[in-house]
Amino acid sequence: MRYEYPLFRPPSEANSLILQATLGCSWNNCTYCHMYRSKRFKVRPVEDCLEELAEVADRGAGRVRKLFVADGDALVMPMESWEPILREAADSFPNLKQVSCYAMASNVLGKTPEELRRLRELGLGVLYMGPESGDETVMRRLAKQPRPEGASRDEDYLFEAHVEASRKAHEAGMKVSAIFLLGAGGVERSQEHAEGSARLITAMDPDFLAALTLTIVEGTPLSATMDRLGWRLPDIYGLLGELRTMVGESSPSKALFRTNHASNYLPLGGSLPQDRQRIVETIDLALAGAIPLRPEELRGL
Ligand code: SF4
Repeated sequence: MRYEYPLFRPPSEANSLILQATLGCSWNNCTYCHMYRSKRFKVRPVEDCLEELAEVADRGAGRVRKLFVADGDALVMPMESWEPILREAADSFPNLKQVSCYAMASNVLGKTPEELRRLRELGLGVLYMGPESGDETVMRRLAKQPRPEGASRDEDYLFEAHVEASRKAHEAGMKVSAIFLLGAGGVERSQEHAEGSARLITAMDPDFLAALTLTIVEGTPLSATMDRLGWRLPDIYGLLGELRTMVGESSPSKALFRTNHASNYLPLGGSLPQDRQRIVETIDLALAGAIPLRPEELRGL
C-alpha cells in the first residue's frame, strides 16, 4: 500500500488492512484535532485504490479479514468511489468479514437511506463516529461538524445530528462505534459533559462504545482558547468521575465498551448494560487508589 502519512486508525483496527481512499479530513476543523492539519483533503483516484487492493490480493488474499478505509471522514467519499472499492474488496478477499471507516454525523446525514443501504450491501458494516461529548456547549466548543445551512450560531443541533446519524446508520444495517472524550468540557463543564454524554450514548444506542482522554495539542485552536480563557483539564480523579457518570447513567441496549486507547489512565472493558455494575465498581476502586493507573509516561495520544 502507498500511504501518505500521518495515518490513523481506531485501536480495534490494529489488524486490519488500511486503504487510504481519502487523504485528510473534509472538515479538518474540530478545535482539539491535530490529526490532519498538515494535509489538504482529497479523494484519491479510484484506479489507484483498486490497484493497491489488487496488489495486496496478489500477495495473500486470504489473510485479509478486516478492511479500514481511511482517512478522517472517509464516508464523505462519493458513491462513485465507494462502490468500486467495496466491490473490489469483496471480490479480492474471500475471508473479508468487516469493512469500516470514520464518519462524521454530517457525512451520514449527507447520504440518502438508499445510498447507506447500498454501502451496507456492498460490505461497509461499521462506522466510527466521534461526538466526543453529548453536551451541546462542549460539542460547539469542539466544533464537531459544520453548522447546517440556515442554522444560527447558538442553535442546538449537534446532539440531535448524532442521534439522527446513528438512527440512519442502524436503519441501513450498519453498526455504530461511538467515541467520547474524557475531559472535553474542562473543569468547569465536566459534570454537564459527562451527563450529556451519558444521554447521547443512550440516544445513539451504539454497538461499540469507547472513551478516550483529551490531550491538548499545542497549535490547535482549543489549546489557544484554553490558554486565553484559563480553562483547565480535570485531574485524573475528575476524568475517572466523568467515566463513572458516562457508564453509570447511560443505557445502551447492547454495547461493547472499551477504554483501551493509549490516552486513558484506566483500561476497562465489558458489555453494557450487563457489566455496568462491575465497571462502576472498578472505577470506584481506582478512585479510592486501590487499582494502579497507567503511568503518565506510558500514555499516548
Ligand atoms: S472530524 Fe475527525 S479528523 Fe476531522 S477534524 Fe474532526 S476530529 Fe479531526
